[in-house]
Amino acid sequence: MSKEELLDRLRREIESCRRCDLWKTRRKPVLGEGPADAEIMLVGLGPGRQEDLQGRPFVGAAGKFLDQLLSEAGLRREDVYITNVMKCFLPENRATGEQVEACAPYLDRQIEIIEPRLIIALGNLAVAYLFGKFGLKVEPMERIHGKLYKFSTLTRSGHIIPMYHPASALRNPSLRGRLVEDWRMLKPILVKLGLRRENA
Ligand code: SF4
Repeated sequence: MSKEELLDRLRREIESCRRCDLWKTRRKPVLGEGPADAEIMLVGLGPGRQEDLQGRPFVGAAGKFLDQLLSEAGLRREDVYITNVMKCFLPENRATGEQVEACAPYLDRQIEIIEPRLIIALGNLAVAYLFGKFGLKVEPMERIHGKLYKFSTLTRSGHIIPMYHPASALRNPSLRGRLVEDWRMLKPILVKLGLRRENA
């Protein structure tokens, strides 16, 4: 089965998923979007109101800001695969431990299918989940944002970079400059990892 077919199968599964109570308040579950063989994967928290209506990730105000951040790093949205830890609308913009436990296996399978070389974890929940999954020590975001970490599993290795969630800058404008700077500094890191050409 191709990567696209495997992701399609996953999409059908989440459309009928009732593993946690969030199915009751969702309209459209959001699996993610982007190339099935993307080298870079972005992982956020979960769908907001706009994402729930459209069934697409990062389409609201935070999505607009994310597009700007991607361009600071010399990337376009179509270059990366964008998803979230949680696949259904989060009415209170947060997920319980039980909800994360129920939903995260979908993200695990996406990572297995897509095999990204770099994962950018957006916000505290994505960082906590992914660092835990790869056995990395979770530290406060102030200390680790924008830094490159290596992960390896039995079958593969790659890198992960924690970043503030774009929505956090909308709530707290003083974070905006820091986010823009982190994404600007991502450019040379992508070149170093061979994920982007120097002058591209
Ligand atoms: S949030 Fe995840 S586990 Fe919960 S119902 Fe939606 S797809 Fe299923």
